[in-house]
Amino acid sequence: MSTALGFLLNHATMVQAALFGIFIVGCWTLENALLDAEVRRKKGRARVNALFVLSALPIQVGMTAICMALAIWVTTQHWGLLYFIPGYDSPWIKYGLMFIALDLLDYVFHVAMHHVPLFWRFHLVHHTDQAIDVSTTVREHPGETFIRNGFLIAWVLLCGASLEILVLRQTAETVANILAHTSFRLETRVMRMLGWLLVTPNIHHTHHHSRLPYTNRNYGDVLSVWDRLFGTFADLAPADTVFGLDTHASTEGDDPYMRALAMPFDEPWRPTFLRR
Ligand SMILES: [Zn+2]
Repeated sequence: MSTALGFLLNHATMVQAALFGIFIVGCWTLENALLDAEVRRKKGRARVNALFVLSALPIQVGMTAICMALAIWVTTQHWGLLYFIPGYDSPWIKYGLMFIALDLLDYVFHVAMHHVPLFWRFHLVHHTDQAIDVSTTVREHPGETFIRNGFLIAWVLLCGASLEILVLRQTAETVANILAHTSFRLETRVMRMLGWLLVTPNIHHTHHHSRLPYTNRNYGDVLSVWDRLFGTFADLAPADTVFGLDTHASTEGDDPYMRALAMPFDEPWRPTFLRR
């Protein structure tokens, strides 16, 4: 193993947090420089969204460490579906196929966040942002941070994902996620062509439209092919896209951060079979 790769793997949590910080600040600066008419409007929202980093960080760091320890364990124990595939040691399988499998499972996770009522309570906080920019990326309820990392741990155990592919996949996911939330929605031919393979801001902005069925479209994370394959793809023109959720028209108030944190508990939760 090269020294650089060894350092990256040994300090994966720290490196990923640093990469996330640098990339998000870079995109934010670029957005403000190129779209300066929006800056004033964005500032208040960004401050609220940034507060979510503080509440999510301890959960993210703790669960990332568990996930990475498990990725090492599955590799040493030869645990997971990977080891049932003939020639599993080939880089095409343990990196290429595993990357695609983890992306598909991330699609499954996002579908679950929208369709399992208990999960949607937490995920809707991300969707209640009334505009979309880089800061929306970090607008995640700590409850969703816990559920998301729980799913990732389950996927690692199911697939037998190694630490190397986990770090590679999470790095690609971080970059894709931040880019998909930027305001750089370009209706160009290049962007449309890119959208056949990857999730672009054009594709993800449609997912943030306030009304169904668009809110339940474009679940993809890095690859856009899953939505096309499973019939959940939609394309909405920028002029027709209204961000937020029609069920939560206003998220304003004296303390929008605390209001957003309380949102999942607005109505008491009861199991489906007890509802009338
Ligand atoms: Zn969503």
